[in-house]
Amino acid sequence: MFNKHAPLLLAFAALCCGAATNSPAAGIDFEKLMGAGAKAGKALTLTDSEVVASANDACAYSDKENKVAPADDKYAVRLAKIVQGLDNEDGMKLSFKAYLTPDINAFAMANGCVRVFSGLMDMASDDEIRGVIGHEIGHVKLGHSKAKQRAALLASAARDGVALSGKVGGYAKGQLGDIAESVINAQFSQKEESAADAYGYRFMVRHKYDPNAMVTLFRKIPSDGGLTSSHPASTERTKRVEQLIRKGS
Ligand SMILES: [Zn+2]
Repeated sequence: MFNKHAPLLLAFAALCCGAATNSPAAGIDFEKLMGAGAKAGKALTLTDSEVVASANDACAYSDKENKVAPADDKYAVRLAKIVQGLDNEDGMKLSFKAYLTPDINAFAMANGCVRVFSGLMDMASDDEIRGVIGHEIGHVKLGHSKAKQRAALLASAARDGVALSGKVGGYAKGQLGDIAESVINAQFSQKEESAADAYGYRFMVRHKYDPNAMVTLFRKIPSDGGLTSSHPASTERTKRVEQLIRKGS
């Protein structure tokens, strides 16, 4: 399970949860992926499709470790309404699910898997949730999520010595949990956060959602205590989004 006692991080900000448990899962062939390069003494390289495949695995792992709202659940029904028409968005194939967990959180992975936590849905309007989604898929569209996925995969492989030992098939014990946790908790730079906010703003305008919802949600979120210090202060981000709204671009 992700640790529900972890500090609340805003994902708009990046919100999310803690440690995942060890659990083997089928997926990438690490030997194929890492073995040849390591044996040849070359730097490890991963293709984009390998990175996206590992995001598929990490998302499936996260879905298994969290309580996914069934289709007839009120959170699932509401989320489906909120994201209607967004399955193919700006060249991304998106899949949405709600997690029944009180954390104020949401995330998107490089494969277009978007997850919104019921804790966030409880305190946010439909457009405020769309603002979070716009920001999160901004990280995907702008390549930030792929970079995090790639880094998590390589770090995990290096940690476990997979590249050297050339383990056969799938993930080593605990590896997928590490990767999922690291991607979900990924800390983006202030520059990346600003770019994702700007993307989120354009997303809101493009769909005729109310961009002011991004600002009102920022205001609902406490800027200290629960928020991670690695993210820009809420006030700064609020000001920047307000500026975008004023300027209209
Ligand atoms: Zn972000």
